[in-house]
Amino acid sequence: DLGTSLRGTLDTLRGKSRVTEEDVDKVVKEIQRSLIQADVDIALVQDLSSRIKERSLEEEPPGGTSARDHVLKIVYEEMVGLVGDSTDLPLEEQTIMLAGLQGSGKTTSAAKMAWWFSKKGLRPAVIQTDTFRPGAYDQAKQMADRAEVEYYGDPDADDPVQIAREGLEATSDADVHIVDTAGRHALEDDLIDEIEDIESVVDPDRNLLVLDAAIGQGAKDQAQQFDESIGIDGVVITKLDGTAKGGGALTAVDQTDSSIAFLGTGEEVADVERFEPDGFISRLLGMGDLRQLAERVERAMEETGQSEDDWDPEDMMSGSFTLKDMQKQMEAMNNMGPLDQVMDMIPGLGGGLMDQLPDDAMDVTEERMRDFDVVMDSMTDEEMEYPRAIGADQIERISRGSGKPEERVRELLQQHKMMEQTIKQFQGMGDGDMQRMMKK
Ligand code: GDP
Ligand code: MG
Repeated sequence: DLGTSLRGTLDTLRGKSRVTEEDVDKVVKEIQRSLIQADVDIALVQDLSSRIKERSLEEEPPGGTSARDHVLKIVYEEMVGLVGDSTDLPLEEQTIMLAGLQGSGKTTSAAKMAWWFSKKGLRPAVIQTDTFRPGAYDQAKQMADRAEVEYYGDPDADDPVQIAREGLEATSDADVHIVDTAGRHALEDDLIDEIEDIESVVDPDRNLLVLDAAIGQGAKDQAQQFDESIGIDGVVITKLDGTAKGGGALTAVDQTDSSIAFLGTGEEVADVERFEPDGFISRLLGMGDLRQLAERVERAMEETGQSEDDWDPEDMMSGSFTLKDMQKQMEAMNNMGPLDQVMDMIPGLGGGLMDQLPDDAMDVTEERMRDFDVVMDSMTDEEMEYPRAIGADQIERISRGSGKPEERVRELLQQHKMMEQTIKQFQGMGDGDMQRMMKK
């Protein structure tokens, strides 16, 4: 499953504080695979990819954001940018006209939308102007009956413009008029002429283009032609209950500079959803909860600086740096991000300062961090306070108690020593030194 692998790839960034080009490339490749499989136009995919790459590498993650969360948030924002907002549809009196090729799902969608508006407390009517397809009148009537909405059509008439005019009059008590039109197998001049004529009589508030989710890149020509003739304000994607993900519709949205209004998810009148970016993004990426994840990042950023027991990174800058401090720091890394970013949050300590430290001074991978945590759980309070006093016997005991090799215990002590030295270095600096370093 593609979503799972995107997630897996994002998760490989979990323990990292900085994103490399290679990391972003991997994430972008996963996204590209999903989107291309979902029929999203290659040019749109490339645009999106380069924006994700550029932003991930160039934007400074806000204090306390891990590499994974930083990239995740950018991916989410760019995906929202790609799919766009839902077409604005005020719950008030309005006329909507549907356009699209035969079989795209116009008649079904007309009834579904009428049903949807009726559930919102409005009084919709469906007007059927298709005189081309045999049985169009009956099909539309059946659907309108199932939706329990008003219906107008004329099985004997052959002028769609006249049907439209009479239909609007006959249903003048309704407040939402949905005008269904005929389609053809392909775009032909007479179809375009006909829909232009209907449009001029109906004067719709919104023209919606109905597209089958399986449309692929054929969406472009249709969107362009209908947009040139009547102007397209929004798109309805049908048959999303099948295997097609509807990415081709994004081409139509892009082409018409519009947005998606409704999604059709079955043959019944209730099988309709108002378009929501989040659900659609999940569908495209095959990934359940991108929004939730992005929101979690947002929250973590808001909470930055307040870890569980009110541990204040500033405390670290005065007094001694014990293993307890280090443990707190490690806890904080889960909530806030790595030490260098925690440092960024301390007033007076800019990012530039951290760049002057050796890279490995702050390199604590997730796996090591977990081990360190287990090791520290096997230490006494005194050992946590005075790690320098820990001798070989104690190391052996701690190793046995934690089930981790002695080497890990020594690594922890070494890591602590390195961090302590780094911090001492800062503590020893006067304000003048700080300022000079930060100006570099
Ligand atoms: P029109 O020619 O554009 O008016 O298209 P129709 O509304 O007649 O739909 C064509 C076919 O697609 C019909 O058999 C519908 O039942 C079917 N259809 C329309 N929308 C959906 C949908 O969202 N899901 C599924 N599974 N079938 C749909
Ligand atoms: Mg029809």
